[in-house]
Amino acid sequence: MIRVGLNGYGTIGKRVADAVAAQPDMELVGVTKTSPDYGAETALRRGYDLYAAIDDRAAAFEDAGLETAGTLGNLLDAVDVIVDCTPAGIGERNQPIYAAHDTPAIYQGGEDAAIADASFNARGSGAIDDPDSLRVVSCNTTGLSRLLAPLDEAYGVEKARVTLVRRGGDPSETDRGPINDVVPDPATVPSHHGPDVNTILPDVAVDTAALKAPVTGMHTHSVNVTLEQEPTTVEARELLRAEDRLFLIPERAGIDGAGALKDYAADVGRPRGDLWENCIWEESISVEGRDLYLFQNVHQEADVVPENVDAIRALVTDVTREESVARTNEAIGVGLDSLLSDAGSARDQIVADD
Ligand code: NAD
Repeated sequence: MIRVGLNGYGTIGKRVADAVAAQPDMELVGVTKTSPDYGAETALRRGYDLYAAIDDRAAAFEDAGLETAGTLGNLLDAVDVIVDCTPAGIGERNQPIYAAHDTPAIYQGGEDAAIADASFNARGSGAIDDPDSLRVVSCNTTGLSRLLAPLDEAYGVEKARVTLVRRGGDPSETDRGPINDVVPDPATVPSHHGPDVNTILPDVAVDTAALKAPVTGMHTHSVNVTLEQEPTTVEARELLRAEDRLFLIPERAGIDGAGALKDYAADVGRPRGDLWENCIWEESISVEGRDLYLFQNVHQEADVVPENVDAIRALVTDVTREESVARTNEAIGVGLDSLLSDAGSARDQIVADD
C-alpha cells in the first residue's frame, strides 16, 4: 500500500483525496487544513484524518470541536508521499519542510516548473528517471498535452495554435472575475501556456493566446494544429476517440456548452459533476488540408485529478505508466463515453459511485 498524505484540502486537494482513497493500492493517511472551516468538517465527515497544516493553529481545531490527528510534521512522518495542493506559490514555501522530513512530494501547476525534478502528464510525459518530486501541470496544460500527444505520435505536429478562453474563477471563488468583460490575460502573445506544454512535450511547436471570461464552469480551447501528414476528418476523430481521457461529445447529445456538460456529468453520477476528461465537440473536429481544427472544454477543477494519482505511482513505485493509467481509470471511472455516439458506447458504462 502506498501511504499518501494530502497538504491543502481545497478545490484540487479534496478531489485528489477522494481519488486516492478510491485506489486499491493506496491509503489516504490524512489531509491538512489551515483552519477549522467547512472543508475541515467535510473531510472528517468523509472519514479522513485531519491534520493542522500550521502548528500554532492546531488549538483552533480543538476549540471548534474538530478532532485532529496531529500536525503536518506528523503526517509527513507517516506517509510515503505528500501531495501538495496548496495555493500557487505556497508549495515552494513548503518544499524545505518536505525535504526536512525526507518525504517525496508532488506539486501542482501553480508552482514554477523548477520546483520539481520533472513536470508530469500521464499521456504526454516521456520517461522520467527516478524522480524525488514531480509537478502535475496545470489544468490547461494537462488538457493540451493529452490532445497534442496522440496527434504528434500519429501525424506529427508542425505547429499548434490555441486560443484559451479561461474561466474567471472557480465556482467557490467569490473574489475573482472579471464580472462583465472578456479580458486578454495575459495581453502579451504568445502566453506562457505554450512553454508550459513544452515541459511535457518539448518537441511540439505550440503557440497560445489566453483570455479570461466571466464564467466559472470550464475553460474553452479553440485549437488549430497544422499536421505533418494529412489525415481525413474521420481518421482524426477516431484517433482522438480511442483516448480514454478524451471525451468526444456527440452532436445529437444536445450538449452545447459547459452548463450542459456539467449537468450531464452530474446526471451520469460523477462526484461533484466532475469531468476528468477533455470534452471535445465531435463535429468541431475537422481537417482542411493539413490543418486540424476543434473546440474542447476542460474542467479546471477535475482534469488534473487522475494525473495526480498517476504521478503518485510514477514517484514511488515501479508500476508502468500504462498500468497506472488503467488502474486509476478503473478505480474512479475515468473514460466517459456516450450511447449517442455514432458507434454507440465503446466502453463499459460508468457506475455511479457517489
Ligand atoms: P484552493 O485555494 O482551492 O485550495 C488550496 C487549499 O490550501 C485551501 O484549502 C487553503 O486553505 C489551503 N492552504 C493555504 N495555505 C496553506 C498552507 N500553508 N498549508 C496547507 N494548506 C494551505 O486552490 P486550488 O484551486 O485547489 O489550487 C491548488 C493548486 O492547484 C495551485 O497550484 C493551482 O494553481 C493548481 N490548480 C488549480 C486549478 C483550479 O482551477 N482550481 C486547476 C489545476 C491546478
